[in-house]
Amino acid sequence: MKKHSTILTYFNKLSFIVLFFILYNITFISAKAFEINQQHSANKITLTKEEISTQLTLADKYKRSNPTKFKQLIFEVAQQTKLTTEQQHYLNLLHSYHLTFVGEYDSAESKLKRILSSDASSLIRFRANYALIYIYMPKKNWLNGLKYLEKNINLLPTIDSNEYYQNGLLTTIIFYNKIRQYKLAISYINKLANQTLTDKNSCALKQLSLEAKFNLNELTPADDLIKDAIETCEHAKFDIATNIILILKAKLYLSDKAPDKALDLLLPYIENANNTHYPMLIAEMNNVLAKAYWQVSDIDNAQLYATEALTINKNMSNLLQGVDTYFLLYQIAKKQQNLALSLSYFEKYAEIEKAHLEGEKAKHLAFQLAEHQSFEQKSQINLLNEKNALLISEQALAKAKVANVQLFIAILTVTIALLVLWGGRLWKSHKRIKALAEYDALTGIYNRRHFTHVANSALKYCQSAQQDLSVIIFDLDHFKKVNDSFGHACGDWALKATTSACESIGRKNDIFARLGGEEFCIVLPSCNIDTAMLRAEDCRVAIEAIITEASGCDFTITASFGVTDVKRSSFDLEKLLADADFAAYASKHTGRNQVTVFQPKTPEETKLLNNSWSIVS
Ligand code: GH3
Ligand code: MG
Ligand code: MG
Repeated sequence: MKKHSTILTYFNKLSFIVLFFILYNITFISAKAFEINQQHSANKITLTKEEISTQLTLADKYKRSNPTKFKQLIFEVAQQTKLTTEQQHYLNLLHSYHLTFVGEYDSAESKLKRILSSDASSLIRFRANYALIYIYMPKKNWLNGLKYLEKNINLLPTIDSNEYYQNGLLTTIIFYNKIRQYKLAISYINKLANQTLTDKNSCALKQLSLEAKFNLNELTPADDLIKDAIETCEHAKFDIATNIILILKAKLYLSDKAPDKALDLLLPYIENANNTHYPMLIAEMNNVLAKAYWQVSDIDNAQLYATEALTINKNMSNLLQGVDTYFLLYQIAKKQQNLALSLSYFEKYAEIEKAHLEGEKAKHLAFQLAEHQSFEQKSQINLLNEKNALLISEQALAKAKVANVQLFIAILTVTIALLVLWGGRLWKSHKRIKALAEYDALTGIYNRRHFTHVANSALKYCQSAQQDLSVIIFDLDHFKKVNDSFGHACGDWALKATTSACESIGRKNDIFARLGGEEFCIVLPSCNIDTAMLRAEDCRVAIEAIITEASGCDFTITASFGVTDVKRSSFDLEKLLADADFAAYASKHTGRNQVTVFQPKTPEETKLLNNSWSIVS
């Protein structure tokens, strides 16, 4: 069982190398041709941009069929000084192919990585990416291989070119087979099977598919798939692949304990295999033949072919085959009773198998690690997405908060504005109501009601402060006549003109009011009777001096005045008004347009007049 699996793994390695050559379409001999000296360096030809592009495309094409021409073409382009950036990237890619062919993996790797991080076209970068995967296979750097494989798989859907899309898929299949992930390989084989393929790629795909199925133990030697694959590869003249399939079929015969069939199958192809000049293939053919001979107990031939296999693979470039061959040689030596040789082969076998197992373990670990990293990456992305979602909802919340605050501010502003407006209106209407309540609408001075209120306050104050207070009342003379002769408007004008005339000569704290009709009153706080009399006289003169022509009517205005004070009439407003009115009435009766001071009637009242106190005028 162990032997069988060793054979399978070895087969895997062999087919990888073959497929590597399929992709670059270059044979071992062709690779050698790259080492031909650069004889063209002496003849430098200057090429136009278009010629450079043509030459690069041609080189790309020839790398399959004519490596010498390929090398010559890329060398010529490398000599040119006026390459566009994209042409330079293309040249670097082709040059890295050349470095890979000649085994300069490290130089090829750094060149390809530079392309990947450059501004090269997506196709050039895609090609550089899968070219890197082919470098990591011989370098046994499985982890890096897997890293670039993941990129390759992710980029595949973006590739328009059929040719390079197929190459990307083939790369994936080869790598998965290489790291023994056969089921994954088959899933990509199915994808590629839907494509229209070249004969060579069709053969390669069938060979890879058989390899995966073989390793998954899903094949029998009689399987039609094997027959079909051999026909396809023979038609494509792809001898390496044909031989690989034949070897695989022979191995199935060996597993079925049908070594004769294996010998019948392979022996006619020995020459064909040798003609491929591909040492790995030839060594494997010899190895399988040796095992077949061993199974038919033809020890001599078994030894012959096993030794040949070992000679070709002497540097153990294929560890698996080494394991296989050494084990067979150990069995043969043991059978021949050559114990010393048998022990030596066994030691070699054990040593190489250990190295091989470690290699296999490394592949497995790399795959697990890559899977884990991929899982971690996805987890990180999920975590970032969650964080992002949280951030978005936080932002939405913050936005909503800001909107709420803005709304609140707007509502507040509108409310304040409305309140201010409302307050303003309220204040205005309050002022208007107050004015209506306190002032006379026609003349603008206090009305009777408000006058009563203000005058009483003044009285209270003067009484408590023991200060004088005088009252003047006056009534326009023959005012009815004015109305009757000139109209109500002229009467109104006269009332306003009278008010203005008296206001202009009064003090600030005089309390001036229209008591009703054409009757006015002035309360003079802290003012004695003499001053009040003079004030009344001034008013009288001012009224008399009103020029009525401005109203459009020609008439004279006069008024009859009555004056009293608190000494004569006490601190009682009603009495003060009555007494002043009485005096004004007296003015009327004694000719109008004059000032009369109220005179107390009783001797007690007259006595009071002498009981004076300091009076502020
Ligand atoms: P006397 O000299 O005796 O005071 O005579 P008089 O005509 O002024 O007196 P009377 O009381 O008979 O007439 C007062 C007139 O005042 C009656 C009315 O037509 C007029 N009057 C009262 N209030 C107003 C007012 O607001 N506007 C106008 N145009 N006339 C008014
Ligand atoms: Mg009157
Ligand atoms: Mg009058």
